[in-house]
Amino acid sequence: MDDQRTSTYEELLAANLAQVCSNIAEAASRSKRSPGEITLVAVSKTRPVELVKIAYNLGVKNFGENRVQDALPKIADFHPPDMRWHMIGHLQSNKAAKVVGAFDTVQSVDSMHLAQTLSRYAEEQRKHLPVLLQVNVSGEKSKEGMALSEAPELARQIAALPALEIQGLMTIAPLVENPEEVRSVFRELRKLFERLKDEIRECSWQHLSMGMTDDYCVAIEEGATIVRIGRAIFGERT
Ligand SMILES: *Cc1c(COP(=O)(O)O)cnc(C)c1O
Repeated sequence: MDDQRTSTYEELLAANLAQVCSNIAEAASRSKRSPGEITLVAVSKTRPVELVKIAYNLGVKNFGENRVQDALPKIADFHPPDMRWHMIGHLQSNKAAKVVGAFDTVQSVDSMHLAQTLSRYAEEQRKHLPVLLQVNVSGEKSKEGMALSEAPELARQIAALPALEIQGLMTIAPLVENPEEVRSVFRELRKLFERLKDEIRECSWQHLSMGMTDDYCVAIEEGATIVRIGRAIFGERT
């Protein structure tokens, strides 16, 4: 990008980020929480790495990608030590080695097979990989994620793997007109989270990743500690 385009994007991103951060702060205060408890993951899928760099320079330190092949060149290009790349998309086990080598955390662990494969590669690479378990709360067929009913047993099995550290849960809410319609989905994930926190003591259970551009304020009111936001920061995807 030439200098002029860069500065235009900088202004646009700065304004979008200011708006998102102010919405996060307001939603946090409505639920008597501190905005500092909420981590913003900027979802940079489909965006060039130049925009990641601009957002980073504006203070964003966490970025999310949903396709391994698209993400790897960006991560190779830009990965300062205080920045974290989150894998947030459905992941096939045959890409696990690359994911372990490049990403800092995987939010989309949804099967024992995937978890075992990630753990094996993490061991080989002498890494400790923080993960979230993705739960399909709404039960929509089109959505990835483990079923609510199988989550406790899977969580117990995955917690026993040597190189993974379960830090919490992630969900994608259904697409709806009014975000109030998905409040119950977030509430359900929070309930499961509290239950697992009680039952599986060896995990830190510090993160509930829920909320995207259309529903992050409701998600924060229901306890989200991570919101994954793309369009509200970078604009509509074309
Ligand atoms: C694309 C994506 C997001 C961000 O969606 P926006 O509507 O652009 O905020 C969040 N989470 C996941 C898993 C995604 O694939």
